[in-house]
Amino acid sequence: SAKSKLAQIATTAPRQDPIKIPLAIRRTQFTELYQTFSTEQAQQQSERCLKCGDHSICEWQCPLHNHIPQWIELIKAGRVMEAVELSHQTNCMPEITGRICPQDRLCENQCTLKDSTGAVTIGNIERYIAEQAFASGWQPDLSSVVPTGYKVAIVGAGPAGLACADQLVRHGVKVCVFDRHPEIGGLLTFGIPAFKLDKSLLARRRDIFAQMGIEFQLNCEVGQDIAVSQLLEEYDAMFVGVGTYQPMQVKLPHNDAPGVFDALPYLIANTRFLMRLDELPEQPYIDLVHQQVVVLGGGDTAMDCVRTALRQDAKHVTCAYRRDEANMPGSKKEVQNAKEEGVEFEFNVQPISIELNQDGSVSGIQMLRTQLGEPGDDGRRRPEPIAGSEFVMPADAVIIAFGFLPHDLTWLAERHIDINTQGRIVASVQSHYPYQTSNPKIFAGGDAVRGADLVVTAMAEGRHAAAGLLSYLTQSHHTE
Ligand code: FAD
Ligand code: SF4
Repeated sequence: SAKSKLAQIATTAPRQDPIKIPLAIRRTQFTELYQTFSTEQAQQQSERCLKCGDHSICEWQCPLHNHIPQWIELIKAGRVMEAVELSHQTNCMPEITGRICPQDRLCENQCTLKDSTGAVTIGNIERYIAEQAFASGWQPDLSSVVPTGYKVAIVGAGPAGLACADQLVRHGVKVCVFDRHPEIGGLLTFGIPAFKLDKSLLARRRDIFAQMGIEFQLNCEVGQDIAVSQLLEEYDAMFVGVGTYQPMQVKLPHNDAPGVFDALPYLIANTRFLMRLDELPEQPYIDLVHQQVVVLGGGDTAMDCVRTALRQDAKHVTCAYRRDEANMPGSKKEVQNAKEEGVEFEFNVQPISIELNQDGSVSGIQMLRTQLGEPGDDGRRRPEPIAGSEFVMPADAVIIAFGFLPHDLTWLAERHIDINTQGRIVASVQSHYPYQTSNPKIFAGGDAVRGADLVVTAMAEGRHAAAGLLSYLTQSHHTE
């Protein structure tokens, strides 16, 4: 009854987050911050779950509709391997989502305990379950899968492509995943820094995928190293999960000056450097040691840049954002971590121009203060400039992290795929077969379809597309 639930809430032990490594180490190393829960911690935190219902709101709020209360019940009962299997039914990389989903906006935001003793630590329990699987040498059992004889090519080994591949092999389809990078993961590997996701995680998961029968063709750019026409000839269908890689531009005078950098090439070059991969001519390694750094933007990418610069031993790092803290789009947990590590925040400011030294290098940014006005089309209050509030923020290096737009997809448009005015591939859950494009043989999902978003939403679309592909292959393929 409601009364007994209230009594339960009142007596529930408080939420406890996992241990973070000491600040002094954090600031200097690209090591993951949080430790995985011990069995005791995972049990204690699982005990807090009230199991609000068989299909609780947390489960619906998770884009993958993970069976959260059910796997928590299994952890409480010490039945870890059953929790591992259940978790993998809906999510092919729980060790990733457990680490980097913005849980405070998703599953944990809906927890009944959120405003009393604190939400159940769903993400960390999810991570614990996955780590238990790896520690015990777990492998998915695909022995009862009946081969269908169908073959699908997947372009892009990001979360969308991998989730699609996982579902297809589990339903007897042969899959080959093509990616231009030397490792799988997309932005999980070449984007998100190692202090959020250790780089060994994707190599470890690649081994599991390979054991499941997924083939990978890495260092292979479709449209360049292999033609789409060849893939369409050799495979029964194709899934495209190529992400969004065009940085959003804002016309700032002198934004091409030496010392002004785009966020993603900066992060990718740093990751490649740490992974001891060759430096790419178009993405040179940028070392911000002893520099005064300003990062423009307030999302996850901006947070990753400020914290990377700190770890490169920058002299001073500031994040400059045009709205206030409450309106920052990224994960609140990571903003808090950035603050703890020594990043300064300048809210309600808008850049006007990059200021230069006599030699043409960056000396600072001319800023204007803003106040929040009426909500715009997206429902968020728009920043409005305050007249006469100009000031210069000193900087030796400026990183622009305003977000991403779809990159050029001519090679796909040539295959009669509709691309909308924003450059995104047109496909949706309402397509004739979910996530089918205007070319019946080609399906698509993830950031390239929905615009830059989240790992978990890209995975959800990859799974929906796999269901669409399976229906297409089995119901219509031979009659078309
Ligand atoms: P991607 O991850 O971009 O993968 C696309 C893949 O396609 C890439 O590997 C690319 O190499 C490959 N590809 C592209 N074209 C070709 C081609 N022609 N041939 C072969 N391969 C090709 N989300 C969160 O949930 N939490 C976070 O903390 C978070 N932090 C982020 C930090 C940064 C810096 C960035 C940039 C994003 C972050 N995101 C975060 C967003 C998240 O990473 C993306 O939404 C997600 O990775 C999108 O998945 P995807 O599979 O659609 O695309
Ligand atoms: Fe929560 Fe993300 Fe895990 Fe879903 S996938 S349960 S939203 S942490």
